[in-house]
Amino acid sequence: RTFNKVPSESQVQVSFCDVGGQATAIAELREALDFIKDRQEIRRLGIRPLKGILLTGPPGTGKTLLARAAANYTDAVFISASGSEFIEMYAGVGAQRVRKLFKTAREAAQKHKKNYALVFIDEIDVLGGKRGRTSSHLEYDQTLNQLLVEMDGIDVDDEVQLLVVAATNRSDMLDPALLRPGRFDRQVRVDLPDKEGRLEILRLHTRNKPLAGDVSLPELAQDTFGFSGAHLESLANEAAILAMREAAKEITRSHFQEAIDKVIMGGKLDRRPSV
Ligand code: ATP
Repeated sequence: RTFNKVPSESQVQVSFCDVGGQATAIAELREALDFIKDRQEIRRLGIRPLKGILLTGPPGTGKTLLARAAANYTDAVFISASGSEFIEMYAGVGAQRVRKLFKTAREAAQKHKKNYALVFIDEIDVLGGKRGRTSSHLEYDQTLNQLLVEMDGIDVDDEVQLLVVAATNRSDMLDPALLRPGRFDRQVRVDLPDKEGRLEILRLHTRNKPLAGDVSLPELAQDTFGFSGAHLESLANEAAILAMREAAKEITRSHFQEAIDKVIMGGKLDRRPSV
């Protein structure tokens, strides 16, 4: 039925250089990934393999980008799904989809002759919320149990090495079973960018845009506190659209100023004190 929408496989290549203002998160992820890459040593020393990494933080800060970059870094196929796609009224369907997700990941790796598959589950809190708390809890429980079964089944001797990366902005909602050793035992915090981070992200998202001489990216970074990476991406895009409407050759400071207002009005910005 709706199986073909879950999971989705993607070949888009993203690298850590495409993620701005997240140096700490990138370093932590790299460290975990380097460890995973050394499969022989892990086997030789009998170390429990790292199976899951949880990315936590507000929306639009680059968690999905980081997961894609992680797949690229480990030369893994990238398979993604969102927690909400597993929630169904019919008993057993969610669990079946979880099984299918892992099966597809293994098959995709084999098809592309890769040793690794990275399964990305966005909004893990939707499927991995604390058990027994919702009205249709039986269905949630089955789905979450299946995820635990799949993760427990990952073995260092598997032909295709699976790594599960999940993202949430509600890590407090997660069922503690997910955070136990051997599951998501590594957590990486992906926060809103500070001023330097915003500057990096603005540089990334304006690198292919004609900027007028009066545009100062450091000044824009200063004026956009509380903005996430997604907000900054949309700011650069809005400014370019405004320039196009005026048939301007370049994007000017005033286009950016107007675009800031648009982004603030359009999105629910969480304007916390500036860093
Ligand atoms: P959500 O929690 O809403 O799923 P997310 O944290 O996964 O959000 P992304 O989907 O990775 O965020 O970000 C959305 C878009 O915003 C990206 O495709 C990118 O264009 C831009 N973006 C977000 N964060 C960054 C960043 N740190 N560096 C560069 N671009 C970013």
